[in-house]
Amino acid sequence: MRRSVSGAKRRPRRGEARRALGIVCALLLSGSAPTDAQETQNFTISAESRDAIRLLVGELLVNGHSSAYDEYLADRIGPRLSGSANYARAAIWAQGQFESLRLSQVHTENWTIPAAWQPKTPATGRIVKPSNHELHLYSVGWAPSTPPQGVEADVVYVPSMDIAALNAQKTQLAGAIALIDTASFGAGHSADKMFPALQHLRSLGIKALLVPGGANGTEVSDAQNFSGDIDPVPEVQIGTEDLLLIKRLLRQPPVRVHFWVANSIRPKVPVANVVAQITGSELPDQIVLVGAHLDSWQAGTGAQDNGTGVSMVLEAARGIAALHRPPRRTVRFVLFGGEEQGLLGSAAYVREHKAELQNIDAVLVADSGSEPAKGWYLMGRDDEKDALAVLKPLLGGLGADDVASGTDFLFQSDHAPFEMNGVPSLVLWTATDKYEALHHKASDTFDSVVQKDLSLDAAIVAATAYAIADGHGRFGPYLKEEEIRAMLKACDHLDEFEYLHANAVLP
Ligand SMILES: [Zn+2]
Repeated sequence: MRRSVSGAKRRPRRGEARRALGIVCALLLSGSAPTDAQETQNFTISAESRDAIRLLVGELLVNGHSSAYDEYLADRIGPRLSGSANYARAAIWAQGQFESLRLSQVHTENWTIPAAWQPKTPATGRIVKPSNHELHLYSVGWAPSTPPQGVEADVVYVPSMDIAALNAQKTQLAGAIALIDTASFGAGHSADKMFPALQHLRSLGIKALLVPGGANGTEVSDAQNFSGDIDPVPEVQIGTEDLLLIKRLLRQPPVRVHFWVANSIRPKVPVANVVAQITGSELPDQIVLVGAHLDSWQAGTGAQDNGTGVSMVLEAARGIAALHRPPRRTVRFVLFGGEEQGLLGSAAYVREHKAELQNIDAVLVADSGSEPAKGWYLMGRDDEKDALAVLKPLLGGLGADDVASGTDFLFQSDHAPFEMNGVPSLVLWTATDKYEALHHKASDTFDSVVQKDLSLDAAIVAATAYAIADGHGRFGPYLKEEEIRAMLKACDHLDEFEYLHANAVLP
């Protein structure tokens, strides 16, 4: 999943999210009229489906490969920045895995990221006035290098990112290094508030931007845009303690900072989504899509985010193929690139497959790590509850028959481009006790992944995908544009969607 601006998540943090789960989309969706090819009866599962799912879950729990997939991806390939050589290796490897499972239509679909980015050497920096103090700092993702001599200027703290407040600081900010933190954004953490404010701040002639990272010395990878473009000024994250020191020193300005960053940047690089499928036995044109993002940040090896999700997708493919009983509908497996830079790969897929979206019965995305799953995030689609209740007997024994109705993570993973175009969406809902300690950090490595939990989650993803693909009746309605907008309005996300849509983030 994505993080965002100033080290804060764009939506409330996980703990708050749990408290906020009561905030649901109150609208009861009526749904669109089905097309001719779609079944109209209520969603049900046959006895034959249940038998197949018993075998499927048994295979994944007793003979699971997900841990081996994740270990290879994390340890043998390593971090997978979108557009990097490692990403390309991961795509070739994943394609090879699908081929070895004898899946159909195994191929890649390329899209172009505005820039590929990766750090060349570690950044260095220090406070040079009023004292001499080395800073713990890292370049922000998709930010440019400094000039060879580095950047040096007085630091100006930005207490409020409101446009009027920024304008009031205009003279101070020109030629300065701006420092922002979570407090600068107040309560407005949605994309439609944060990104325009950041753009405005950068337009005020600042030399560079400092944003909060983790504790001193902890690299927390992140980007401060949602497009895969390179930001106009150098931007670095600094340790929490360094940030607090600078804020204390700023009681008696000036505080002067010097830093140096060298990043490797290549414009317009092709990035591959990896696609494969098991073609349906009765309704091959109807699709259940199972997806996860193949890209990761560079601080760790992306074992959790999102090596675990990729492993669940591969494992679902392996398990369903091993049944030799293809479900009624096609199950399509897609590994996306560019998720961390703004859902770029999934948005490209949705643009490219627009004509087919009405035939996608459901999109299942795994991107919440691999602690034991509790069930599925409905992501605003409360109309999926009845169909999911049909799966309760299958998922209950795996501890995953619950649903989360909140919409805090509505735009934070690869389901969003599909969901905003009417496709019923589900995101795996897992425990998140370890999630923040690993998320986008150097600690996101294979040793933190618990094999039995990952096997369990892979079984839950595979069982859910197979049940929906083999079920009778449609899992959820494909929604028309006006129905999506009504849903977004009911959960107070319409402004944010309109901003992301207008800026071509969400198709
Ligand atoms: Zn992720």
